[in-house]
Formats: sequence, structure tokens, C-alpha cells
Amino acid sequence: MPATTLEQVVALAKRRGFVFPSSEIYGGLQGVFDYGPLGVELKNNIQSDWWRTNVYERDDMEGLDAAILMNRLVWKYSGHEETFNDPLVDCRNCKSRWRADHIKGKCPNCGSTDLTEPRPFNMMFKTQVGPVADSDSFAYLRPETAQGIFANFANVLATTSRKLPFGVAQIGKGFRNEINPRNFLFRVREFDMMEIEYFVMPGTDEQWHEHWLEARLSWWAGIGVPRDQIQVYDVFKADLAHYSKRTYDLMYNYPTLGYQEIEGIANRTDFDLGSHSRDQDKLGLTAKVIPNPDSLARLTYFDQASNRHVVPFVVEPSAGVGRCFLAVMSEAYDEQIVKAPPAEKVEAVAQALQAFLKSVGRNEKLAAETRDALLERGEAIAAALPEALPQIETLLAMPGADQIEVGKKLRGQAQPVADEHFRTVLRFVPKIAPVKAAVFPLKRNHEGLVGTAKGIRKALQKTGMRTVYDDTGAIGRLYRRQDEIGTPFCITVDFQSLEDGTVTVRDRDSMAQERVASGELESYLREKIG
Ligand code: ATP
Repeated sequence: MPATTLEQVVALAKRRGFVFPSSEIYGGLQGVFDYGPLGVELKNNIQSDWWRTNVYERDDMEGLDAAILMNRLVWKYSGHEETFNDPLVDCRNCKSRWRADHIKGKCPNCGSTDLTEPRPFNMMFKTQVGPVADSDSFAYLRPETAQGIFANFANVLATTSRKLPFGVAQIGKGFRNEINPRNFLFRVREFDMMEIEYFVMPGTDEQWHEHWLEARLSWWAGIGVPRDQIQVYDVFKADLAHYSKRTYDLMYNYPTLGYQEIEGIANRTDFDLGSHSRDQDKLGLTAKVIPNPDSLARLTYFDQASNRHVVPFVVEPSAGVGRCFLAVMSEAYDEQIVKAPPAEKVEAVAQALQAFLKSVGRNEKLAAETRDALLERGEAIAAALPEALPQIETLLAMPGADQIEVGKKLRGQAQPVADEHFRTVLRFVPKIAPVKAAVFPLKRNHEGLVGTAKGIRKALQKTGMRTVYDDTGAIGRLYRRQDEIGTPFCITVDFQSLEDGTVTVRDRDSMAQERVASGELESYLREKIG
């Protein structure tokens, strides 16, 4: 079963070094995160799978890596200076700031309804360019990568001799000064985006829009985010962005958050290329563009069939890597009973949990919201024992739990049962798992076993598969550790290995083991990983 709460994923991501708060040693920076040793591997794997699928496995795509800083005029004619705003309100009571469309007229911090009128707040970060800080010497950190593709449209066309339809793919950083960053990686101020601008003949745009919807859903399924966890939301006309004729938002069913946007697929018409062109009145544009006396180019395509210049329409699938990372981790997350816990142990945990909840209910020092959150979570766990037993750890990590004395007793009861009878496993699709294989020697003080295991690790990693070596515990414990980070295969070198050159390979999901000749390990793993 995938994660039921965001806390489960956040706790695991922190515990195992997938994600760290940025600049934590100075108290952090809100809405900014760093990817740790495992996080960077997972993120790279997601990105390269996206690149492979969208660039290498098609014959109508090129790649691009445009700079983050661009001429300010790009953001004037893209419409961002004018319209990339969120509605900001202030709470007059506690002075906190919120996005008006996120809070339903009531301050989430203090509950006051005494709020200012919403006013537009531009989300682009500014930064100074050059040594002289006058009012003109700034640039924006790009809020999307798309504009780098539009600004290079003529360059790509001239250097690749592409014919319509064709697309340009790009992965890179975007920055948005979100009013209220929250929900871990879901809403942050700095994030990576995977964007495609697909250029088509006007009139074929609707059909290509449908094509990309299907192509993208199929990619999501292939990295472990199944179709039945995504709703396709056909955005209402009144809610469309200024450039869009029609947009499909893919809404993933995030734990705790429910259905939220993970990717937008927009039909941007001829707005972008038209807006960035000179001589707009000669181009026969359909979009209402911003008059542009500054551009040096006409971003058109010469159509030989009709012997005329046209401004291509654009279909844009745009996904955030962080939201993808969170969805992939949530889907992969599982807590599994490996050996049924005896009834009396479960009963003891159930009683300790009830005592904890009673104490929470009676505690008058806790804020009402904190108390309710603990009770709600605790009761959900109590109703789902024994399966939910490992979640007691996340309950005890919630705000306020540390003030409940009997929490210690609950932990003392629950933890040994969780450790002995459950395993947490990230069931990543093997191709995106951060570590592909882990190699263990049966004994860590045996030179032959250690040397062979290290040799296998080195040889596998040379082939491009991230492989780790570990000898810091008993084999069962090492398996659990790898399960928790989603390593699909564990390889153990034992005494038989020294005699016949075979090793045991243990499968993460089935926990089955088989013996494989070490010389065949690479092809064995490659076949399984795909
Ligand atoms: P939202 O309505 O949630 O603010 P949006 O409609 O502004 O999102 P787009 O402009 O369509 O988002 O951005 C494309 C993609 O970039 C989104 O589908 C999402 O995956 C990602 N994204 C956008 N804003 C953020 C953010 N603040 N943090 C993380 N990812 C983001």
C-alpha cells in the first residue's frame, strides 16, 4: 500500500538522507531544500528517464540547456512582468501573509477573519546584474524554463533543419517567490522543471495536445505513478493562464494533500512565438499578444507545402521534478508485515496507544489544533492495527507528542514489534531506484569474503549501476536497510562464493534468493532493471 500520510514520506526522506532542509545549520531557508546522497541519485534517475523517453526514444525532439538569467525583455513580452502574480493578503491580527486563494477567508495561523483585501504580488525573484545597482541593472531568476526555448526557437530551427512538428526538451531550475511555501517538496521557491515545447502547424494543435496527454500519462505509469492515481483536470476557461487555449492539469493523489497538480499540459497557441516577434501585424497571429517594438526577430517557420511563413502553435507538457520525486516516493512507500506479530504483543501496543490518546485528550497545555491532529492520527492508527503499527513512530514525531509522558512507554512497546515484524520498503521501479545493488560479505573480518564483495561492487559500479558495499551489521539488518531505500537487489558473498564463484542475489519485493555466477551478475541485473 502506498504511503497514507505525507509525514511517513517526509520522515523517511530525512532519516535516510534523501532530502535536507537548505542551510539547516543556520535555521534553514523557508521553501528551499537540498537533495542528499540518495535524493540526488533518485532525482538524476527521474530526470534521465524523462530525457531518454522524450528525447532519445522519439525522432522529433531536440534538447536545450538555456541560462537561468535572461534579458528582462523576455519577461516583459512573455507577460510575466504583468501577470505572474498571486493574490496576497495580510492577517491584521497576527501579521502573517497568505495566498488569498489558499485560505478561504480565515487566517490559518490564528483563525482571524480580519484580513486585508487581496493585492497582486509578483512571484519573480530579482537579482542585480553588474556592479552598479541602479534601477535598471537587474534581471529575474527565471520562473519557468520555457522562455529559454522560445527565445532560442530560431537558433534551434536554423541549426537542426527540423520540420514541423518538432519539440525541444529542457530540464533546469525555476524560481518562484511563493507567498507560503509548504508541504515539503510540493510548494517550494527553487525547483527543477522538466519542460517540453512542442511546435506544430496551426490547426493540428488540438490533436497534438491529446497526443501529449497520453504520452505523459504513459511516462508517469512507467516510473511508478499509475494511471488510476492521476485525475486529468480540464481547466475551466475562466481559470486558464493568459497564454492558454486549453490546459490539462494532471492531478496526483498525494498522501495527506489529496489530488494536486503534478504536471500541466497547455496548448499555448501562437502566443509565445508571436509575442517575442517583431512585425506582429504581418504574422496572422490568433493570440492576443503584447505589441513588441524591441524584438530583433520574426519567430516563424517557412512551410514549403503552402509556400508561406507561419507562426507555429505550441503544446507544452511541464512538470516539476520535486513534485514528481514526492509522488514517486509516496507510491513506492510500503510497510509490510514480514512475520505476523503475536496477538498479545499487538494488544499491549494497542493499550499503550489508548493510554497515550487519553493523555493527549486530557492535556490542557496543548493547543487545540495540535491536540486534534494527534488524536485524529492516533485514532486512525488504532483502527488499522496491526498493519499501521509502524506508523506509531510518525505519530510520536508529530508536534506536541513529546509533551506526553506515556509516549515513551508507547514507543518502548511499539518499536521492538515494528523492528522485528515489519519492514519499510520503497518499491521503486528498479530503473529509478537510487541504488541498484548492495553487496555484503557474510563476515566482515574475513579477508577473502570482503575482498570478493568489494571487487563485485567496483565492477558493477564501473558499468554505470550505482552499487554500495556494506558490512556494518548482520545480513538481515543490512537487507532491511536496503529495503528502506528501495535497493532492488542485495548480493551476498559467502563461503560457497569462494569455492564456486556464485553469490546469492536477494530480490527486494519477493525477498526470494537465488544463486548467480558472479561473472553473470551484470547481465542478470541489467535484464531485471531494464
Ligand atoms: P500551482 O497552481 O500549484 O502554483 P502552477 O499552475 O503555477 O502550480 P505551472 O506554472 O503549471 O504550475 O508549473 C508547472 C509545474 O511546475 C507544476 O505542474 C508543478 O509540477 C511545478 N511547480 C510549479 N510551482 C511549483 C512550486 N512552487 N514548487 C514545486 N513545484 C512547482
